[in-house]
Amino acid sequence: MKRSRYQVIITDCDHGSIEEEQEEFGSLDTELILAQIREEDDLIRVCKDADGLINQYAWLTRRVFENLPKCKVVARYGVGVDSIDLRAATDFGIIVANVPDYCIDEVASHAVAMILTLIRKTAFFDRKVKSSQWDFRQGAPIHRIQGKTLGLIGCGKIGFEVAKRISAFGVKVIAFDPYLQRPAEKIELTDFETVLRKSDFISIHCPLNESTRHLIGEQEFKKMERKPLLINTSRGPIVNEKALIQALEEGHISGAGLDVLETEPPDSRNHMLKMENVLLSPHVGFYSEESISELKRRAAKNVSDVLRGRWPGSVVNREVMGKTRATISID
Ligand code: NAD
Repeated sequence: MKRSRYQVIITDCDHGSIEEEQEEFGSLDTELILAQIREEDDLIRVCKDADGLINQYAWLTRRVFENLPKCKVVARYGVGVDSIDLRAATDFGIIVANVPDYCIDEVASHAVAMILTLIRKTAFFDRKVKSSQWDFRQGAPIHRIQGKTLGLIGCGKIGFEVAKRISAFGVKVIAFDPYLQRPAEKIELTDFETVLRKSDFISIHCPLNESTRHLIGEQEFKKMERKPLLINTSRGPIVNEKALIQALEEGHISGAGLDVLETEPPDSRNHMLKMENVLLSPHVGFYSEESISELKRRAAKNVSDVLRGRWPGSVVNREVMGKTRATISID
């Protein structure tokens, strides 16, 4: 049988079907293989002839790259690329691409859903009514949402969409973002202290890095004058969880909505699992059928673009420009 011109291996992924990926390669003569492998030796053995890889969790180490002489591009399903040795990829002229914005709508809606659920106490009442308790006073006090202030920590793509959605409820939006030059209309850019002091809801939308790890700790909770709801759909370690539990117990904040935790899944002894004013979800903010479909298409497109001689939409290791193994038309 005649071999295809290109071979692309999907090292591993959560989803079973690769229809969308297949469609993305279209007329490009490509053999697309779903390998579902993660071990270094398996990766080297199976991917040795691959022109491109798409990967989710498998660790792509220097040793793996050393043994992939034809590989020109690696596309990650998702935003984070911690599973890929970027320096090694760059040394071998391999382009690494990601999909940074496939779930903006989902995460922003999830954050707003958490605010609404906590302020209207819908999850709380649901539990009560289903255990035969029909008494609205059990939820007191409930406050009106209109006229409240939301403080964003990080006002990039998701933060901006949260602001847009919550504004429709008559909520004022302030934001702390040290790298944002000009905020969108109706978002008042301010300093970190003001967000802590003046917000009725605080929603975190900055990345996790060394400067944001434990950005919110004991001292910050003590500055929260309005006893806000704290929403975190970003990354768990941005909030010091021990300090968060203490702040909830001491009433510095009135509740928390958390899609992400310092330890995922949480230890069964985690106090927050028993707290009525804590709303939890299992790091699901990114997910919808539509976002996953988009992710699959765009990860595959990153690879097919390179094989077609084009730069992919989002290159992570920009230093590779000028020394790629691929033939890119404008290199
Ligand atoms: P983005 O890059 O568009 O925005 C991040 C913003 O944070 C930027 O404007 C940046 O200037 C700002 N920022 C950086 N450091 C800061 C700091 N120290 N203090 C305040 N702001 C700071 O990213 P995005 O697409 O809006 O995503 C935000 C975060 O959402 C991601 O980093 C990721 O951790 C998280 N996320 C979660 C899920 C989920 O499933 N829950 C899915 C996707 C993304």
